[in-house]
Amino acid sequence: MKYQNNLAFAQKLDKEDKLAYLREKFHIPKDKEGKDWLYFTGNSLGLQPKSTKEYINQELEDWANLGVEGHFEAKNPWLNYHEYLTGKMAKIVGAKPIEVVVMNTLTTNLHLLMVSFYRPTKTKYKIVIESDAFPSDRYAVQSQLKFHGFSEDDVIEWKPRKGEELLRIEDLQTIVSEQGEEIALLLIGGVNYYTGQFLDLKKIAEIGHAKNCVVGIDLAHGAGNIQPNLHDSGVDFAAWCTYKYLNAGPGSLSGVFVHEKHSKNKEIPRFAGWWNHNKTTRFNMRQPFDVMEGAEGWQLSNPPILSMAAIKASLDLFDEVGMDTLREKSEKLTGYFEFLINAIGSEDIKIITPKNSKERGCQLSIRVKNANKSLHKKLTEHHIITDWREPDVIRCAPTPMYNSFEDVYRMVKFLSLILSKGKETNTEN
Ligand SMILES: *Cc1c(COP(=O)(O)O)cnc(C)c1O
Repeated sequence: MKYQNNLAFAQKLDKEDKLAYLREKFHIPKDKEGKDWLYFTGNSLGLQPKSTKEYINQELEDWANLGVEGHFEAKNPWLNYHEYLTGKMAKIVGAKPIEVVVMNTLTTNLHLLMVSFYRPTKTKYKIVIESDAFPSDRYAVQSQLKFHGFSEDDVIEWKPRKGEELLRIEDLQTIVSEQGEEIALLLIGGVNYYTGQFLDLKKIAEIGHAKNCVVGIDLAHGAGNIQPNLHDSGVDFAAWCTYKYLNAGPGSLSGVFVHEKHSKNKEIPRFAGWWNHNKTTRFNMRQPFDVMEGAEGWQLSNPPILSMAAIKASLDLFDEVGMDTLREKSEKLTGYFEFLINAIGSEDIKIITPKNSKERGCQLSIRVKNANKSLHKKLTEHHIITDWREPDVIRCAPTPMYNSFEDVYRMVKFLSLILSKGKETNTEN
C-alpha cells in the first residue's frame, strides 16, 4: 500500500474503511468544545461500547424484578452466564470452546494455572520469563518460586541482545537447550507490553516442549489485538484480561485457555470450588468433588453477572466483525501510523516495535531521546491520549474498532509540530 502524508488521503482511507461505522458504537471522550479526544490507549483501557449500559441494565432489572429466580428466569439466565462468553472468546484467541473460560482476574488466573502447571521438582524448577515482563507476571512467578521453597533468583530472563530492543527466538532456544533440564516452566508475554513485539507462540511451545517444559502465555496485550491461534500453537495454557483491547471496562475479568490435550486429565492438581464441580450434580451439594472437563474445570466461583454483561456486550461486537477483518484494518492503520511517524524524520524519536506487521499488533512504542517526558505531557494536554512507560517510551495503540486514519494523521501532525518547536528552542539556546 502506497501511503500519502496529507489529511485528504487519511480521510479517503476512512471513507474506504468498511469498519469505520464501528466508531459510532463507542463512547469517545470529548474535550470542552465537544471535539473527540485522540485516544490511543486501547492497550491500557479500551473505550466503552454504547451497548454496554443496556447489557448491564438488563441484569440490574432482572435482579430487581426476579431476585434469586434470575438464576433461571432472567432473560439471560445467570446460572451458566459464563457460557455465553465462551464460544466468542474462543474465536478471538483461536481456540476450541472446551479450551476457554472467563473467570476471575488475570493475575489470579496466572496463579491458579501455575498451581496446576508449575509442578517443580528438586532438579527441574526454574521459570523463564522475558527480561521486560510485565511486573505483575514477574511478581507472580517469583512468589510461586518462593511458595515452592525456591529463590526469586531462580527466574531465568530471556533478554534482548546488547544494543537491541527486541527478543530473538534463537536466544530462547539457546537458554532452553543449555538449561532445559532445570527449567519447569516458560511464562511469556505473547505480545510484549513495552515493545509491542508479537512473539511466535508455536515456536516457543516447540522449544519448551522439546525439553519437557510447560509453556504458558500471558495474552493481556494480545487478546482482541492479534490472532494468537492458541490451539494450533500447542501452548499448554494462557490467560488475558478483558479491559485492554477487549473493551470490557476497568478491572474486568480474565479469559483462560487450557489446551485440549489437558481437557480430560482429571489428575492434574488444582484448587477446587463448587464451580469446577460437575454441573449436573453441583446442586446436590453432597457429592464428592467431581471435576469438570476442559478450562471450566479451573473455575471456583459462580460467575459475576454485572462484569460479565459488559464482556458480553463487547464480545458481541467482536463477533459481528471477526478478528480477520479487524486484523486487516489494524495492519493498515498501524502501517499508516508508522509511515507518518517515519516521515517526520526526527532523530528525537525512534519506533522500537518490529517493522514486520506479522510481528506486532496495533501498538507502536516510540522511544524518546533523553527520556524527554515533555513530549508525552504536551500530547496529553492536547487530549491526545497515549501512555508513558518508564524509562523512555510512549506507547500508542490505534485500535481498529474505534480509531480512524484521520485520528492517526492528526496525532502525528501534532507530534511533528512539537518536535520541530523543540528544535527551535534548542537552537535559540
Ligand atoms: C495488564 C496486564 C496485567 C494486569 O493484571 P491484572 O491482574 O488484571 O491487574 C498483567 N500482566 C500483563 C502482561 C498485563 O499486560
